[in-house]
Amino acid sequence: MNEHQLSKRLMQVAEYVPHGSRMADIGSDHAYLPIFLVLNGKISFAIAGEVNDGPYESAKAQVDRLGLQGVVDVRKGDGLAVIDAEEVDVICIAGMGGALIRQILSEQSSKLNQVKRLILQPNVASHILREWCLENGWELKDERMVAEDDKYYEVLIADRGTPSVPYEQLPEAWRLHALTMGPFLLRHPNQAFIDKWTYELNKRKKILESLDNGVGPDVEEKKKLIETEMAMIQEGLKYGSRSDDHPMV
Ligand code: SAM
Repeated sequence: MNEHQLSKRLMQVAEYVPHGSRMADIGSDHAYLPIFLVLNGKISFAIAGEVNDGPYESAKAQVDRLGLQGVVDVRKGDGLAVIDAEEVDVICIAGMGGALIRQILSEQSSKLNQVKRLILQPNVASHILREWCLENGWELKDERMVAEDDKYYEVLIADRGTPSVPYEQLPEAWRLHALTMGPFLLRHPNQAFIDKWTYELNKRKKILESLDNGVGPDVEEKKKLIETEMAMIQEGLKYGSRSDDHPMV
């Protein structure tokens, strides 16, 4: 992978950056994403934010090598500290856990006042970001699941709006499924979604089997929790296999 050719995961993020937007890539590492977008003429200004020395230096070196100083502005700092309010209208945060992304978004939330779109790619715990969006006025507009190198990655696209909209198309009883598995992904599953949740289901089956010989209230509680999760995943997978939008409940 290099600035000319992104990974499948980052390509999916890049696809949702609107033409002509001013974007900040927080936790940019090598700055491949903003450089790719600039080199492909999709955007003409980006900020690459990095908190750590190594990735910051690597981003700066890439930008200098390509003569993109001033077009891709590499800045060192924690999360949204690197941007001024009104400087960008799109923020991408990719390749971190959901909890860290939420922390970055929450810590300096006034920096988001003029931002119109968030493109978030949590490596784990995407439900944390769906909850954050619901609580903070961000409406999910789409979701993508990609498989790469035996891992599954979710990309969440959110604009300012009415956060409940994507969930209203599902019955209330499906709220937990939607928060965990994604309201768009549930309704329009692709192979990566099916594979990821089949893998998650099998993982839980194995844990359940390993608990078979255990005794005591803790074991029972754990078993119950896993069984509940498994039921939810199975229902979610069934929902996805239907051609219309009405779950089998
Ligand atoms: N975004 C790139 C991608 O998706 O390929 C790089 C992901 S890399 C795994 C995560 C990067 O986020 C690291 O370079 C790390 O230094 C940076 N990072 C972690 N916490 C950060 C924070 N609070 N503010 C800015 N950057 C952060």
